[in-house]
Amino acid sequence: STFTGLGLNPLLISHLTSKMNIEKPTAIQRASLPALLAPAASEADIRDAFIQSQTGSGKTLSFLLPIIEDLLPLSSLSYIDRSIGTLAVIITPTRELAKQISDVLEILLKLRLRPEDEADGEGDNSKRLTRWLVSGLLIGGATRTHEKARLRKGVPILVSTPGRLLDHLQNTSSFNIGKCRWLVLDEADRLMELGFEDTINGIIKGLDGRRRLAIKAVEDGNSIEVGGWDWERRRRTILC
Ligand code: AMP
Repeated sequence: STFTGLGLNPLLISHLTSKMNIEKPTAIQRASLPALLAPAASEADIRDAFIQSQTGSGKTLSFLLPIIEDLLPLSSLSYIDRSIGTLAVIITPTRELAKQISDVLEILLKLRLRPEDEADGEGDNSKRLTRWLVSGLLIGGATRTHEKARLRKGVPILVSTPGRLLDHLQNTSSFNIGKCRWLVLDEADRLMELGFEDTINGIIKGLDGRRRLAIKAVEDGNSIEVGGWDWERRRRTILC
């Protein structure tokens, strides 16, 4: 089977092949893409999701691809409109994991929506129609001042460790997160084990998110459940 028919823009599919040498979806990607990209019939239909899949099964792309596809229609926004702020937040238990996810995002976001722009080469961002759609990494490596300046400019997709994110939500004015559509808790079980529950709760309070997605890695099984999970209930499950 291929990625065709799973709801992805054909240019994103060919980008996956040419830049990452990825041609066929893994089991968890086949399950997650249609489920996460299905349009919500109403506000009440926007539900949380819970992905279970072992490490190495392609879990990262199973949430990154739907997020990028979801945000692509906004990619023609002008510079001014970029003040839309942060639209997706991915929280990971460690800096290393955040860095890995951010590296994958950077490759994915080199996508050009017009294939002829490829000829301009990697370095020429002026022809990149998705140039406003950038990712940012918040892991406490840079100075707070530097991070604040970046957040104020607007970082549509943010990858962060929990403590640093809560710090900015509480202390960085004009860090605009009110339109956030996606929240990913990658390795949510480890986030809880490491004692981040209060921090995560603080972050959730600071988000006015419409979509929330928790990711949990387990030893076997490739499954995604959409619906039937309310936030409170799923959190209890993560803590189990
Ligand atoms: P993950 O489970 O997200 O850590 O991914 C493990 C590895 O599998 C990464 O190196 C990915 O680049 C790779 N990968 C993810 N999806 C696919 C796919 N559909 N086909 C081949 N490799 C993939």
